[in-house]
Amino acid sequence: MSAAVWGLAITIAILGTSCQGLSKKQEPQTTPSDTIISEPEPPKYTEFEEQLIDFGLVDIAEIDSTIGVELVYATPDNFLGHVLYPDLHHAFMIPAMAQKLVKAQQRLKSIHPDLSLLIYDAARPLSIQREMWESVKGTPNISFVANPDKGRGMHNYGAAVDITIMDSTGKPLPMGSKHDYFGPEARIDHEAELVANGLITSEELENRQLLRRVMTESGFFTCVSEWWHFNHIPSIRAKDELKIIDF
Ligand SMILES: [Zn+2]
Repeated sequence: MSAAVWGLAITIAILGTSCQGLSKKQEPQTTPSDTIISEPEPPKYTEFEEQLIDFGLVDIAEIDSTIGVELVYATPDNFLGHVLYPDLHHAFMIPAMAQKLVKAQQRLKSIHPDLSLLIYDAARPLSIQREMWESVKGTPNISFVANPDKGRGMHNYGAAVDITIMDSTGKPLPMGSKHDYFGPEARIDHEAELVANGLITSEELENRQLLRRVMTESGFFTCVSEWWHFNHIPSIRAKDELKIIDF
């Protein structure tokens, strides 16, 4: 071992003991780097979320923190009845879609300053889509979930959002059905009939129309069978223009 390396070894040994073996009298002056003030903050994002960031997706809260986020698959309160996103707590999406959402939020605020957008679901990596598919296999809900081995849903590209409007207390406005409700009330193609037949109220229809207006005027595309679902681009273009979240 060279003299320089021995010197370094001795210095490390001294530094090592200086934090443990001294009595009160000998206590050395502390420098800020020696002082442990509190436990380190837990990381903001899970490893899974860091993977989404590395993939190129953004957390909408970092772009516009006024937009509400309540990921329904991060809780058991969804049509599956169990948590599908144990490691996903933020609404991730492709950056271009996040910019459109900022526009939609501004548009909504310009019409009703007390109202705000509320996101139920955004990016859904293929591994989670597979889990969802497995849990509906053999149930009547199978027709409402995209088979990850055949067609890919726009959520799997980080290019779709499930969204509603909430009031100033955070309560969602009535829209005529819950998110991920699989019935005629969820459709947007015959809404006048839904009102006429008493399946949804005219107030619920007005709320849907407001949501559709701010979203489509900001560049989103609707989905005929789900009032809450909006695509960044028409799904037919996704395969050529976007990257699937393949993990
Ligand atoms: Zn959706």
